[in-house]
Amino acid sequence: MSIVFIVSAPSGSGKSTLVSRLLKDVPRLLFSVSYTTRAPRGNERQDEDYHFISRAEFEERIARDEFLEWAEVFGNYYGTHREILDRARSEGFDVVLDIDVQGARQLKGRIPDAVSIFILAPSREILEQRLHDRSEDPPEVIARRLREAAEEIRNCRAYDYVLVNDEVERSADTLEAIVKAERARRTRIEEKIRPILATFEAK
Ligand code: 5GP
Repeated sequence: MSIVFIVSAPSGSGKSTLVSRLLKDVPRLLFSVSYTTRAPRGNERQDEDYHFISRAEFEERIARDEFLEWAEVFGNYYGTHREILDRARSEGFDVVLDIDVQGARQLKGRIPDAVSIFILAPSREILEQRLHDRSEDPPEVIARRLREAAEEIRNCRAYDYVLVNDEVERSADTLEAIVKAERARRTRIEEKIRPILATFEAK
């Protein structure tokens, strides 16, 4: 059984950097490329960062029940396709989902042993500073993002792990440690340990 890792964080928390580090450093992880109706930004690439589709196509896919979870975030649809789990299972990989708090809630309902991780900026001031530093957006847009972040952060208690991202190297190590520890949970590796235990049975 593949493990489903859910990573959520408001923008400016450093999530993308940590997720790319994780995918680079830990083997056998499959990133779930979401479907979205928002337009590509900067150098985002079709089918690599997202599957960019129209609202009409998204709604058709909802009607066909293709999504494991989906949500409307800031006026656009975002969703995780069901096929990601089959693909991960057949390849023997675990899955990493970068989804919002609504999606995380739906997924935990469907897959209770999914592992959820919330990435938290160390303080409101630092998050505000990061939002200023990385964007050329006007102050009112930044203020809106900060309000949205505060709203999302209120949900962090529903997550299994909260990673306070004060120092990127340390946070990357912790995220990697969470994945490795979850992979070693006895309940997840019963099949693997059974034959080992059998070799110790009294002859
Ligand atoms: P952005 O537009 O900045 O890439 O993403 C906006 C928000 O949508 C982020 O919080 C991101 O985690 C979330 N998101 C991305 N893909 C999905 C998805 O498939 N499902 C859900 N529920 N949220 C998603």
